[in-house]
Amino acid sequence: MKVNFKDVAGLEEAKVEVMEIVDFLKNPDKYTKLGGKIPKGALLVGPPGTGKTLLAKAVAGEADVPFFSLSGSDFVEMFVGVGASRVRDLFRQAKSKAPCIIFIDEIDAIGRARGKSNSFSGNDERENTLNQLLTEMDGFDTNSGVIILAATNRAEILDSALMRAGRFDRQIHLELPDVKEREEIFQVHTKNLKMASSVKIDFLAKQTPGFSGADIANVCNEAALIAARNDKKEIDKQDFLDAVDRIIGGLEKKNKIISETEKRTIAYHEAGHATVSWLLEYANPLLKVTIIPRGKALGAAWYLPEERSITTKEQLLDEMCSTLGGRASEEINFGKVSTGALNDLERVTKQAIAMVSFYGMSSDIGNLSYYNSTDDYGFTKPYSDKTAEKIDADVKAMVEEQYERAKEVLRNNMEGLTQLAETLLEKEVIFSDDLERIFGKRKGENKALDAINEAKEQEKAEQTADAETAPSTDAQEAENQNNENSES
Ligand code: ADP
Ligand code: ZN
Repeated sequence: MKVNFKDVAGLEEAKVEVMEIVDFLKNPDKYTKLGGKIPKGALLVGPPGTGKTLLAKAVAGEADVPFFSLSGSDFVEMFVGVGASRVRDLFRQAKSKAPCIIFIDEIDAIGRARGKSNSFSGNDERENTLNQLLTEMDGFDTNSGVIILAATNRAEILDSALMRAGRFDRQIHLELPDVKEREEIFQVHTKNLKMASSVKIDFLAKQTPGFSGADIANVCNEAALIAARNDKKEIDKQDFLDAVDRIIGGLEKKNKIISETEKRTIAYHEAGHATVSWLLEYANPLLKVTIIPRGKALGAAWYLPEERSITTKEQLLDEMCSTLGGRASEEINFGKVSTGALNDLERVTKQAIAMVSFYGMSSDIGNLSYYNSTDDYGFTKPYSDKTAEKIDADVKAMVEEQYERAKEVLRNNMEGLTQLAETLLEKEVIFSDDLERIFGKRKGENKALDAINEAKEQEKAEQTADAETAPSTDAQEAENQNNENSES
């Protein structure tokens, strides 16, 4: 069955990116004539069920080219030599059918970084398979018309050799759908269902936070089965609700569903960050905040860091204050704090230590830096115990002061904070527009924000989407985050 972009709901950004691949496949001459090299591969990164396979198939469908696929997990238990020869065969076949798409699902099963946990016997075969894959990718001409798409939900564990130029040098990120996107996915999957008029798609979308596209497809199918089991002529609202319950049961086991209370906590935590960072003059402006669960992490916020090569003390303190805004909001609104701020506290602590002992930003320590660019002190600290105590005290005081400041900013803006958190609970995502509506324009030197607005205008004019910023997330699963700049 042929899949097209119309079968893929939401995922607007990812679609824009793969559109280019479709264009490469359809009009290779357009690019090669000018001497350009068509990319060989792109990595689709996102949680299970977000539509990575679907999108890859849609690329083949839109370009009207053959689709070859294999899954990394197929190779795990293979006999010696089989994996490598399967890869060889696949590429041979694909090259003879070019232009075409090769899709490798679960590439992490073969592409995990080498040299880690290599005591297992099956690993040699995995490594052979990976090497064969690299050889094949290097072996064919960039412009031969074979484009390789690979899917993973853990890009950070992949061998860096895979990501080198001329291999999978592009990454396309897919996220769990927000409420509006879920509505669109429901639309796609209820198209062929006989439904009662009592079934409202927007209602279903609201009932399914944290569901992936695959989960929603399951809900739709399950609802049809439940209705049929009860000899109904059409599927009604209750059938859908029962189906949602069933799927939630499965997801709860996988720890993917958050309770209503947790969701409130996350919303107020994230709104705290957003409010403080919006109101402080030197903090990084915010682009987007979501409370859609991402793995085990809680919410997430996207900031646009200004392009600074020198950072002032005011900027660092405002950043610190915003980072503490999450926990501060929890304390103010619920009278208690949660473990959700682990990641925030770690960042703040490191920053404060750096300010006091590296950057000479504490009046008590003065213009001394215990930073060591040559790193040859070994185990002895370059300062006395007395200084160590001073550093400890200064670090503590600095963080304490910013925490109090964050609480004060929030207390003075309770109305906006509440409005923001409630908007988050309802819409699951907010953008800088929402903040501006609630708090008014940001004051101070907001070159970065001006740049965003300018870029937006320009984008409207040119209809070219770009300006990627890296998302990052809160809490427990810090190691799961592979992004650089600032966070929630
Ligand atoms: P992944 O490869 O990311 O694990 P799949 O592409 O295999 O996810 O998704 C499984 C199924 O879930 C798809 O075949 C489709 O029915 C449904 N699905 C997932 N994402 C979407 C989406 N964005 N729009 C429509 N259906 C989707
Ligand atoms: Zn936080």
